[in-house]
Amino acid sequence: MDCIKIWDLEVFAYHGVLKEENTLGQKFLICAELYMDVSEAAKEDDIGKSINYANVCKEIDDYLRANTFKLIETMADRLAKHLLRRYTPLKEVSVTIKKPWAPILMPLNTVSVTARRGWHNVYLSLGSNLGDREDYINRAIRLLDNDKNCRVLRVSTLRNTKPVGYEDQDDFINGAVYMQTLLSPSDLLSLIAAIEKELQRERVIRWGPRTIDLDILLYDDEIIQTKDLTIPHIEMAKRKFVLEPMAEIAPWVRHPVLGKTMNELLSDYINLHSN
Ligand code: ATP
Ligand code: CA
Ligand code: CA
Repeated sequence: MDCIKIWDLEVFAYHGVLKEENTLGQKFLICAELYMDVSEAAKEDDIGKSINYANVCKEIDDYLRANTFKLIETMADRLAKHLLRRYTPLKEVSVTIKKPWAPILMPLNTVSVTARRGWHNVYLSLGSNLGDREDYINRAIRLLDNDKNCRVLRVSTLRNTKPVGYEDQDDFINGAVYMQTLLSPSDLLSLIAAIEKELQRERVIRWGPRTIDLDILLYDDEIIQTKDLTIPHIEMAKRKFVLEPMAEIAPWVRHPVLGKTMNELLSDYINLHSN
């Protein structure tokens, strides 16, 4: 991928663990590697199609003066995410914060931390079978998109489906979304739990009626198995109400464990259940 590099931008700011650092301030040197495709800008020789690095330098300076952090780790992480949110063509950003005046009472050239951050590609499934089902789903999508760390990019059609697992309940509507996020898988799980809570989700019966259910289907190509989280979602290949909307919005996306595309998983499902 192409990269615009800003090297050793000097910023005078007030970050640090020590009180003196927060009052006297010190010099930081900032490097930012901005990963994006510059071929359109180059083809037309048009700065409007690229990112103006003078502008980015000003943005870095403003951000590091407007916020105070204790650690250069935090400075690098927050600044990288800030730049990704502020400049939408950016796919990844690597930020290095150097602290040439680090107060360690020994001769030192510089100490630095580098954080590389980028947008993660995520697919979620959505379901509702209580109250105004469509409204709950649309509100959940809005809440996701309004989170500063998420952008919803594609939404499937919503389908009416029969309940699975616990059948004595009303029909569901189900769909799937494609979004990008700066959140880690576990922070994304916390966000969907908070959205479910805001939309009055209650857990009474397993697989029972709910105003809203949000599940993480895929997170990049990651395979995760912890106490709270299994990714890819453990049941996704067995659920038509997941595979149909996924085949609609992501037909060629491949399941990282099963090695098959969403289209293939849906045809497998249909073949298996046709006789
Ligand atoms: P199912 O997961 O079979 O669709 P459900 O959605 O009804 O069932 P919930 O009560 O919503 O189940 O979730 C139970 C727990 O599942 C959550 O608290 C969460 O920790 C865990 N979980 C594991 N993997 C995932 C995932 N990929 N997405 C969402 N939740 C997950
Ligand atoms: Ca579910
Ligand atoms: Ca769930």
